[in-house]
Amino acid sequence: MPKIYFIDVTNRDTVQASRISLAKIQKTMVNIYLGEMGVHQSEFAFPRTKHEENYIKANLELQELGAMGNLVLEGWCRAITPDVDASLATGVRDFNLSISTSDQMIQHKFRGKLDRSKIIEEMVEAVSFARNGGARTIGVNAEDASRSDLNFLIEFAGAAKEAGADRVRYCDTLGYETPDSIYQRIRTLAEKVKLPVEQHCHNDLGMAVANSIAGARGAVDGGVDAYINTSVNGLGERAGQADLLSCVLAIKFARDMENVEIGDAINLKVAGRLAKYASYAFGVPIPINQPGVGANAFAHEAGIHADGALKDRRNYELYDYELLGLEEVAQQPNGRIITTGEYGGLAGFKYVYSKLGIEFPDDETAANILDLVRYANAHTQQPLTDGELRLIFKYPEQVRKLLTMTP
Ligand SMILES: [Zn+2]
Repeated sequence: MPKIYFIDVTNRDTVQASRISLAKIQKTMVNIYLGEMGVHQSEFAFPRTKHEENYIKANLELQELGAMGNLVLEGWCRAITPDVDASLATGVRDFNLSISTSDQMIQHKFRGKLDRSKIIEEMVEAVSFARNGGARTIGVNAEDASRSDLNFLIEFAGAAKEAGADRVRYCDTLGYETPDSIYQRIRTLAEKVKLPVEQHCHNDLGMAVANSIAGARGAVDGGVDAYINTSVNGLGERAGQADLLSCVLAIKFARDMENVEIGDAINLKVAGRLAKYASYAFGVPIPINQPGVGANAFAHEAGIHADGALKDRRNYELYDYELLGLEEVAQQPNGRIITTGEYGGLAGFKYVYSKLGIEFPDDETAANILDLVRYANAHTQQPLTDGELRLIFKYPEQVRKLLTMTP
């Protein structure tokens, strides 16, 4: 029975969105939490972009050192050989290679430079180049797949498979699909090509999660594995994309999902921490009505509701809040607050670390870590979290690397 996996694209799609950004250490923390949560893959970087270079190297090292569980770190670039070439040079070995497949984009973006057959040619060349260059896994992105001619898409995916691609990404780039339409189209694609299909759904019409789940079912019913693309808290281009936690919850708790199997061992306990961390790092509050982690997700006041919830939680709660590890992130410090950061000194720094149960063997070690803490805070420009401080203490060499940027 085919399974459903998750590829989180927060560190690529979300950070490329207007007015949403993360410092490199924050991107690293997102990878660490995704790994802890048991997500299959993080689309973690733009390997073609120069300022990502040290972040990429440091994260690949952290992955080797076991800081991210079994998380696959995959880089995204255009499906053209110069991009793949430059990406391979960074050490990235897992790829998503992107090219547009709709006539809208072929005609109005490429403007005569490429036609349908040239699109396939470029993609095949890029896939072969990546394969020969030592790529481990290759996904091929059909940008604007939802507005592409289905027969062309089948031809495109078939050529990708023949060239050695492991998956095809069905991009609902503009959030155009409905659950019915995406189910049918992905099922047909899966049956015809027999290549695992990724669902990449945007939320312009508010259907990203529903479309992702329906599309994944289409792939599974068509006989191939499904890979749902998600982001933390659903942030992404424009109205965002499929929220990671909502997708997991839907597969676990929605009607008729008993036979749908998630391939990853997802630890939902990390979900609360990851959602709150991303919200903090992005500086974007979690909506009060966000599934699972919104402030009202388990709140009851109306007479009938409060009474019912108190009598039996299943009257008004579909799943338990304890599942999401929410209690861990609920504590607020009160009274005096000592932080450490960009202009901090040794005493405050040692005090903050002692609260995390970390003592330093000597002042030299402490001074070295303090130095990194200062740099990290110079990047993030907001108080460092316990997770960030632990990362700096545990992996100073990799943190030094990812904080280093030379234009
Ligand atoms: Zn996208």
